[in-house]
Amino acid sequence: MWVTILFVGYYFYLDQALPKPERISYSAFKEAVTDGEVESATFKLDQIRGQYLNSDDANRGFVTTIPGTPDSSLLPLLEEKNVTIIAETISNPTWLQLLIGIAPWLFLAAFFVYSSRMLQQRMGKGAGGGLFDFNRSRARLFEHDDQDVSFEDVAGLDSAKQDLREIIEFLKFPERFQSLGAKIPRGVLLMGSPGTGKTLLARATANEAGVSFFSVSASEFIEMYVGIGASRVRDMFAEARKKAPALIFIDEIDSIGRIRGTGVGGGHDEREQTLNQILAEMDGFRGDEPLIVLAATNRPDVLDPALLRPGRFDRKVVLELPQKNARVEILKVHMRTVPTAPDVDVEELGGLTTGFSGADLANLVNEAAILAARHDEKKVTRADFTEAHDKVVMGSERPDLLLPSERRRTAIHESGHALTAMLLPESDPIHQVSIIPRGRALGVTEQLPVEDRHNYSQPYVEARLAVMLAGRVSEKLILGSISSGAADDLEQATRLARLMITQWGMSTEIGPVHFHDGGEHPYLGYELTQQKDYSEQTASKIDAEVKRIVEQAEQTTFSILEANQALLGRLVDELIKHETLDRAAVERIVHP
Ligand code: ADP
Ligand code: MG
Ligand code: ZN
Repeated sequence: MWVTILFVGYYFYLDQALPKPERISYSAFKEAVTDGEVESATFKLDQIRGQYLNSDDANRGFVTTIPGTPDSSLLPLLEEKNVTIIAETISNPTWLQLLIGIAPWLFLAAFFVYSSRMLQQRMGKGAGGGLFDFNRSRARLFEHDDQDVSFEDVAGLDSAKQDLREIIEFLKFPERFQSLGAKIPRGVLLMGSPGTGKTLLARATANEAGVSFFSVSASEFIEMYVGIGASRVRDMFAEARKKAPALIFIDEIDSIGRIRGTGVGGGHDEREQTLNQILAEMDGFRGDEPLIVLAATNRPDVLDPALLRPGRFDRKVVLELPQKNARVEILKVHMRTVPTAPDVDVEELGGLTTGFSGADLANLVNEAAILAARHDEKKVTRADFTEAHDKVVMGSERPDLLLPSERRRTAIHESGHALTAMLLPESDPIHQVSIIPRGRALGVTEQLPVEDRHNYSQPYVEARLAVMLAGRVSEKLILGSISSGAADDLEQATRLARLMITQWGMSTEIGPVHFHDGGEHPYLGYELTQQKDYSEQTASKIDAEVKRIVEQAEQTTFSILEANQALLGRLVDELIKHETLDRAAVERIVHP
């Protein structure tokens, strides 16, 4: 850029500094010739430059343009007036021509050298390597080292770890299996919700096995240049073969491994080619190579069936959300580096964190540590953990937001939820009720299951529905009016009722049938192939049934709260006074 600016500047300087000939019209020129004032005329293309006779400024001349139609009278006239005639050749000097011809190519070559250098630098490679180096795989090779995570650092997930130990055996002692004619599995698919520890487990596996470990995120195969993905795959597998025994880890494989040929946005050719290349490479494994591909996904349902057939990713390891014991273990792992006060009860914390993933738990410990640091404490206390938990589950407090009348309505609403949950034996016990606004909610009633549930019985679901509707019913009962505050409750209740009818067969009207819900993941291109599989009549029947079930639940709740209106009133007063009531406090009011 500087060079260009310099050149342009120099050009303008010359343009200004050099004397410029005066531009005159052709007739003025001819007149001057006729008057005998012109000394010489230089012809070049359609221009004539010339000098005046006896001009005081020696350098100053004039320039004019020859008209398009040839003027045959000009030359005789010039000769007659004794003007020196000079004709210049049109063509530029050869060196200039050469330069003009070559310059663009020089520029292009320089650009390529430069950009491939930049690319190399970004890939963290040193000198060497060709000009067009960007089809190299970006897989990072991790050598075994003691610093890295081991199975010790992965808490819970016992069955997954067991499966992976077997894989490690394959890598370490392939002969043992080959002597019995068993083939080494080629691919292992880790499936689990986000944050369940898939990436963590893959790293730990490689470290435990002590083999070469290639790690790549599937999206890194895809670049803006077509064909790069496939060649990167080829490159990575070739590299891994050289270093065998080796483990290749492809993270987030669903980004290239989606069902081919479907999807809004088109069957992405590049993605498809990359996937095909992976499949081809895996088919090309000879039985005796100690080379195993680990892949992770949180969307196994959208994966191409070709990936899942035997001979490819035929081993599947499922990582579940952690149960209570596992949660306690995970919390312990993350508390190893955090100094905790003696009053912190890990067991209790494990019980309070139903539905948390490993990543959520790690986040919880971190939040607590941050709070402790903010409070200037030496150790992380129980209060910090409680605060962190509430913050993670319900959002930060916004204490100054409620008008007194709104506070009363919120207290009535939340008391309704809480009292119904206390009175229905099937319902999950409550953990706390609060009318401190957090995040988007004006108040919260938090329920905690005693056990992690895997299966919902119909009475449990019905009780849940009743508790969801109880906030609104309570407002109607005490204040005689309803408010917009129950929108979320209604949405959840409607969704639950629809699930009861279409998926769980809990409606006698519709019967034990499963209906596919058409519109679930349109952007994945998977559900598109599975249209809504019921008629319009059934659809309207389902809608009517949803309405009936929700209304019936509302009736039940109304009669429960009406029969216990005195209790409800007392709960409201206590809640307005204390803002937050824990389970014991609610228990004292309801069962004194
Ligand atoms: P994903 O399944 O989305 O790949 P990660 O493996 O990246 O999840 O997990 C994110 C973080 O959560 C990890 O770095 C770790 O700190 C924590 N974590 C998840 N599961 C566990 C576990 N079982 N034991 C210990 N920490 C875990
Ligand atoms: Mg991950
Ligand atoms: Zn509510």
